[in-house]
Amino acid sequence: MHTRPNWAEVSLSRLQHNFHTVRELTAPQVTLCSVVKCDAYGHGVVRCSQALEAAGAPWLGVTSTEEGVAVREGQVKTPVLVMTGFWRGEEEEVLRHDLTPAVASFEHLDALESAAEALGRPAKSVPVHLKVDTGLSRLGLDESELPRFLERLARSPYIVLQGVFSHLASAEVLDAADATEQIARFRQILARIEAAGFSPTYRHLANTAATLARPETWNNMTRPGVALYGYELPFSGNGEVKPLGLKPVLAWKTRIIATRDIAPGTRVGYNGAWTAPRATRIGVIPVGYGDGFTRHLSSAGRVLVRGEYTPIVGNISMDLTTVDLTAIAGAEIGDEVVLIGEQGKNQILATEHARFAQTVVYEILCGLSPRVPRIYTE
Ligand SMILES: *Cc1c(COP(=O)(O)O)cnc(C)c1O
Repeated sequence: MHTRPNWAEVSLSRLQHNFHTVRELTAPQVTLCSVVKCDAYGHGVVRCSQALEAAGAPWLGVTSTEEGVAVREGQVKTPVLVMTGFWRGEEEEVLRHDLTPAVASFEHLDALESAAEALGRPAKSVPVHLKVDTGLSRLGLDESELPRFLERLARSPYIVLQGVFSHLASAEVLDAADATEQIARFRQILARIEAAGFSPTYRHLANTAATLARPETWNNMTRPGVALYGYELPFSGNGEVKPLGLKPVLAWKTRIIATRDIAPGTRVGYNGAWTAPRATRIGVIPVGYGDGFTRHLSSAGRVLVRGEYTPIVGNISMDLTTVDLTAIAGAEIGDEVVLIGEQGKNQILATEHARFAQTVVYEILCGLSPRVPRIYTE
């Protein structure tokens, strides 16, 4: 039961709108793999996967076996790519739930073969996507291991090379030299794979930034994540990206639970970090860093009350935050407060929180804690 007035509204129709918009951008040659990792960037992986499937999403991408299993338990039948591969011992779960694993090591191949044999799977029934490193130096097969890996794949009784992919380090930096190098390297690796007699169905390199800004990275599949949730990224560097008009999917709301009128010179909150410069009406909202409301907004960020921007004053606590209501005529206990989202003519984006916290919008969205209930709306 959720009775504390602190909730997130997730608009599934906006999610579907964003999916269709990105699909139109890349149609017809590109298959979208909608990334729903990290609980769909905090939006809720099961409901978002169901909505994306209903919108016609042909693929979903997750970053753990557990998350793939959760999607399946939500009755979602769409192919699911486990983009980071799987950990020792998860291979049978991967096959049982019909998840498509990324592979990047010989150990992955050995484990999948043992699992396929143990489960009595037919020959050539286990599709995988080979992840190759093109310069991110994180996960991915090193190009030097490619010939031996392809020989091993060719001999495999169960495994089929369905896809090849890599990931860019600086796609949102429009003139990044390393992105150009990674794109060239990926092409070269694809050519080597083809020369060895393989013809993987899917070739993919692009995240949101590359999908929006670099058609040369599309190949025949892209993997947008943050775009689906309505954020078109802060791009940097030389170049221009046409805005798509994506809509933020998540709104975060609360209510004023207490007010107090204080005299000039009164200090507010932990460490008395803010002092009232004049007679001030303080409003208290039941949200804090324990909900993922970043403490970097202390005496810096703002919220919306009665359609107006209202400054946060004092340090954000674990469960409570204080705002300055002095300028908001009639503000009272029970008023709805928007932390992220729209109210009247005004709007606060998660990117604003990211700017104060000197981080990326991804961290703000993923940081919304599980104790904030997600309410799904059309
Ligand atoms: C997270 C992720 C994506 C999506 O990234 P966005 O920037 O959110 O579009 C794509 N591919 C991989 C491998 C990822 O880990």
